Amino acid sequence: MSDIKLPIEVQKELKKISTVAGYLWQREWAERNAGNISMNLTSFFNKEDVLKQTKNKNYTDFDFPKGTAGYILFITGTGCYLRSLVDSIEEASCILHINDDATGYTIIWGGKREGFGPTCELISHSSIHLFNSIHNPENLAVVHTHPIELICMSHHELFNNEEELNRQIWMMCPEVRVFVPKGIHCTSYALSSTAALAEVTMEAFKTRNISLWEKHGATATAPDVMQAWDFLDVANKGAKMLMMCWAAGFKPAGLSDAQLKELEQFT
Ligand SMILES: [Zn+2]
Repeated sequence: MSDIKLPIEVQKELKKISTVAGYLWQREWAERNAGNISMNLTSFFNKEDVLKQTKNKNYTDFDFPKGTAGYILFITGTGCYLRSLVDSIEEASCILHINDDATGYTIIWGGKREGFGPTCELISHSSIHLFNSIHNPENLAVVHTHPIELICMSHHELFNNEEELNRQIWMMCPEVRVFVPKGIHCTSYALSSTAALAEVTMEAFKTRNISLWEKHGATATAPDVMQAWDFLDVANKGAKMLMMCWAAGFKPAGLSDAQLKELEQFT
């Protein structure tokens, strides 16, 4: 199987993905095969090249949302470890092309690992990319990971009061208010790799930067993986500081409502 020649822009995005995967592992947010990353690369490819590349290829059946026909997606592999993306991205992830009636995909780059298949969260990722093309076309990257303190917060009673959860995380320092401007969505529990999970996550991105999956993990979407990582990193920092204050036995004073309001000019 010969891989398609990757446009320089795509190579740049892959580099960022490797870097972010390393960050996720360092943070203990990507244990074992936890987490997955995808990116809508359709606009970076020349249609003719893709057509040539995929002409005689077999497509694996998959029931994609109809609007994703013709999409080209980078996506991590099922059972693959995110930490493998640091040194062997071609083994642990792939770029796939979705056929014209959105009933199957073929791998046009990567997926070199024995028995490779795209993540079982493919339905969530492809649904979010379709949602983004309609509502937030600048958002091409989706990162799902297991940020420790944010997951802990999803077990706390604050999780049932989204507005208050955001206020308490934002109040920990100005940076959190400014760099997670739309805040965190408290997304009700749904089973992994189901269409139901895709549904609640898209709902979350209508209003927020991050979808905090109850008792599971967090997902962010942004123009590239680095910016999606930044949302998760900064939000988790707020959650971590809040929990550190609790653990030290005091309730943090927090930025006042007026101070938080003042920061809105930078969001
Ligand atoms: Zn997960």
